[in-house]
Amino acid sequence: MIKKIVLLILAILLIGLFFHFNLHQLLTLDGLKGSMDQFTTLREQSPVLVIGGFFVLYVLVTALALPGAAILTLAAGALFGLFEGLVIASFASSIGALCSFLVSRYLLRDSLKQRFPERLAAIDEGIKKEGAFYLFTLRLVPIFPFFLINLLMGVTALKSWTFYWVSQIGMLAGTFIFVNAGTQLAKIDSLSGILSFGLIVSFVLLGIFPLIAKGIVNMIKKRQVYKNWTKPAKFDRNMVVIGAGAGGLVTSYIAAAVKAKVTLVEAGEMGGDCLNYGCVPSKAIIKSAKIAEQIRNAHHYGLEDTTPQFSFKKVMERVHQVVADVAPHDSVERYTDLGVEVEKGYAKIIDPWTVEISYEDGTKKKLTTRTIVIATGARPFVPPLPGIEETGYVTSDTLWTEFAKLDTPPEKLVVLGGGPIGSELAQSFARLGSNVTQIEMAERIMIKEDLEVSEFATESLKESGVNILTSHQALRCETKDGKKFIIVKHNDEEIEIEYDQLLCAVGRSARLTGYGLEELGIETNRTIVTNEYLETLYPNIFAAGDIVGPYQFTHVAAHQGWYAAVNGLFGNLKKFKVDYRVIPWTTFIDPEVARVGINEDEAKQKGIDYEITRFDFEELDRAITDSATKGFIKVITPKGKDKILGVTIVSEHAGDLIAEFVLAMKHGLGLNKILGTIHSYPTWAEGNKYAAGEWKRNHAPQTVLNWLEKYHTWRRG
Ligand SMILES: Cc1cc2nc3c(=O)[nH]c(=O)nc-3n(C[C@H](O)[C@H](O)[C@H](O)COP(=O)(O)OP(=O)(O)OC[C@H]3O[C@@H](n4cnc5c(N)ncnc54)[C@H](O)[C@@H]3O)c2cc1C
Repeated sequence: MIKKIVLLILAILLIGLFFHFNLHQLLTLDGLKGSMDQFTTLREQSPVLVIGGFFVLYVLVTALALPGAAILTLAAGALFGLFEGLVIASFASSIGALCSFLVSRYLLRDSLKQRFPERLAAIDEGIKKEGAFYLFTLRLVPIFPFFLINLLMGVTALKSWTFYWVSQIGMLAGTFIFVNAGTQLAKIDSLSGILSFGLIVSFVLLGIFPLIAKGIVNMIKKRQVYKNWTKPAKFDRNMVVIGAGAGGLVTSYIAAAVKAKVTLVEAGEMGGDCLNYGCVPSKAIIKSAKIAEQIRNAHHYGLEDTTPQFSFKKVMERVHQVVADVAPHDSVERYTDLGVEVEKGYAKIIDPWTVEISYEDGTKKKLTTRTIVIATGARPFVPPLPGIEETGYVTSDTLWTEFAKLDTPPEKLVVLGGGPIGSELAQSFARLGSNVTQIEMAERIMIKEDLEVSEFATESLKESGVNILTSHQALRCETKDGKKFIIVKHNDEEIEIEYDQLLCAVGRSARLTGYGLEELGIETNRTIVTNEYLETLYPNIFAAGDIVGPYQFTHVAAHQGWYAAVNGLFGNLKKFKVDYRVIPWTTFIDPEVARVGINEDEAKQKGIDYEITRFDFEELDRAITDSATKGFIKVITPKGKDKILGVTIVSEHAGDLIAEFVLAMKHGLGLNKILGTIHSYPTWAEGNKYAAGEWKRNHAPQTVLNWLEKYHTWRRG
């Protein structure tokens, strides 16, 4: 900080000296013309001194963003002639610009990064890709003030060397014109006369030429990928969507809503993972398990603790009933009514415009289409442990049917995986009476959350009876004397854990094979590789949902579905980059863990000067009435500002409570706005307002309050 202040003082001092010695008056056209004779004599007497002095002055003027660079360029021509003048002016202006760029970076970048981390990150991203092009264009077009370009580029992540050489080349043409004009100084009446309108237009064209050229190259490259395929003259459909999970359903719905002819192909169940094997059944069992836990701990509500009496078969029947009750929302009938043609069959992309559908009865049909959207989702990943296939296991795909066959919950259940799915199911089955051991290779469960949150989750699961083994690596599965074991390694020791059922919940991998990606050469890297518009290698083939990532959530798949539909149908007119800035998620363990934006660990990693505001639910009246006071709201803001960078909520209904912060972040509302919003009493949502109030209390203006106290004392007489 001290170094920065010293640099600032030095810069102010130099600027002061510049004006004190009236250099600004010398660096005018008249000033230059008036002193030319003097300079020429001086130059003849001591050329090195004059060249050196001129160079240093030029560098300083540019570095300190002082007026006079154009006059100095003219002077270079007048004093040193065209060639020598051009070399001197070109290097001095580029070195001066670099100094200005570096000073701006040193003084401003860090604080701007703290204040506007996301915006600067987005600019940096753009600069990384196109920075040199932008700079070149700006340099060539003399209407942009150069000192501003130096200062603004300094706060971006553009490399200093790139800035230097692009600046030098970009400014060369303009420098040449001015130096050349300087060789005939006597004929010049004004600076504006040097650059005619025609010349400026030529520069602009020259400046945007690289961008136009890049656009053309990209267009040719895009066309290249189609060179081995024959494009149909006419298409049966505007869009064919493969997969009727959240991603595919939303895509086809939007397409039909804007009157496109769209076919949705689904090989399995309508609704995909979320409805049939994921969100819906898991939330249904979580509810039954929670009620069982409440019955067991009824004393919290002034009732007698009882061991819950239930039939596990009925619990599982309810899970299936819930799925059946939600199913009409995603059904063939509903989507047909919405204008989507639904085909129940297996889709394969056979060329960039043709999808072949294979039906269960063995028949096939081909559809040509302008665009294809791949929304084929992900499937549970099963670790290749020796013995696992022989001993048997369930995944989120099979557990709902397999466990529905059981009369009682599995007595000994091993849950492999400490992520959200593993944690939700481990707690639920423990609450329903299973003896659950959860195995996690990492040092803590729910590793994507803060340490504090993950420790809280660990406690919650332990209270529900889950035996959590972290830093335990699964090695193999074995059967001995008719009993099943999983062997895990911990601190170089092998431990055997017996189980009746093994649930694999170690992540889900995108479905990448068997439907044409390989044949078309569509690039994959764990997921399908797309650009920001969700375009694959083929600009008319898009992908959305778990097949793309980077988040595996229903709401993200739906969000991407909108972009795939709109970019697919209207991309020739306008394309939209997927906006991943404000993505919430919830892990539905009890209490729930909900998150949006960054958490504390990420704030530290990103070097953000942040502060944390906490609100504990022990303070919330509604939490007290519900005997559910465990949990907190943790808001991350930049130091001294109410802008919300991230929120984690651990509590009952956290998944619902987070919505207010999601809205605030999406629309740039700070904590003061949440505080100024009326929340009905007594609700859980009031917690959000109290968290905002906590921030306000921490930022109360103490001096003003002290004066107010004195004022009131005085008023009392
Ligand atoms: C246990 C569990 C709990 C979860 N809980 C939540 C939660 O609480 N909240 C949340 O946001 N997310 C949750 N998820 C994640 C969520 O389910 C997924 O992110 C979401 O389903 C992804 O949707 P999608 O459209 O990308 O893929 P999917 O829903 O997987 O749909 C893809 C569809 O494509 C079909 N398909 C594949 N290939 C072809 C082909 N060649 N031809 C025709 N059809 C094909 C498949 O049959 C499938 O129906 C959970 C997941 C699991 C497993």
